[in-house]
Amino acid sequence: MMATVDQTHQFAEQIEKAAQRQVAKFRKLARGVHPRSCPICTYVGHFTAFGQPPRLDARCPKCNSLERHRLFRLYADKHQWFDDAHAVLHFAPETQITPYIEARVDRYETADLSDRRAMTHQVNIEDTGLPDSSYDWIICSHVLEHVDDAKALAEMHRMLRPGGRAILAMPIVEGWARTYENPEITTPDARMVHFGQADHVRMYGRDVRKRVRAAGFDLSEVTAQEPDVLTYGLMRGETLFIATKPAGAAPAQEGT
Ligand SMILES: [Zn+2]
Repeated sequence: MMATVDQTHQFAEQIEKAAQRQVAKFRKLARGVHPRSCPICTYVGHFTAFGQPPRLDARCPKCNSLERHRLFRLYADKHQWFDDAHAVLHFAPETQITPYIEARVDRYETADLSDRRAMTHQVNIEDTGLPDSSYDWIICSHVLEHVDDAKALAEMHRMLRPGGRAILAMPIVEGWARTYENPEITTPDARMVHFGQADHVRMYGRDVRKRVRAAGFDLSEVTAQEPDVLTYGLMRGETLFIATKPAGAAPAQEGT
């Protein structure tokens, strides 16, 4: 007897759920091969798997830091990014780096669309309603690939003081000259297939730099290098962008 369309869907769903359970089990057991050091919590030992598909050497089992949090911490220390006069706005605040920043600055605020994570401001990064020229730092890690990035970058530029800096991180395919966007891809399933996560709306190529500059920023970057990659379990070549609002930047104008 032929299976009905409903039965076929049900069967496919069961297979999918079973596969997800196997991946979850694997992720729990899997770990890196070499011991690493965590610059955030000083743990030394094996990191554990994280991500979809899982990266074996990604997560510190003590403080839950991922590669990008450790990269952030290393460079924040090295370049002494924060001081006790600074005001900081942290989008989609990551608890792995929050205490480090909060302890070093005058004013630490967080923002998110979801009230669970927002803590200070429950706002949309595309239009926050927060005041002009009021932050020395904005931290925006793995947010831009979810939103209208031109609006979000303009908004960050507006909120930063002249000379203020935004730390930006996003998934990038450096081998691509151009960012992949596709307006026909709108469902969570299709976004997962095309962009690697159900709520991502693009996959950046190396032209992400042009997008940041187009919002009026000067741009520099730091990249995970050896021996830090081996020592701290970083992602080879992962980049943090430092987008500076030029000191002479004109104040934001309504509607621009
Ligand atoms: Zn740690």
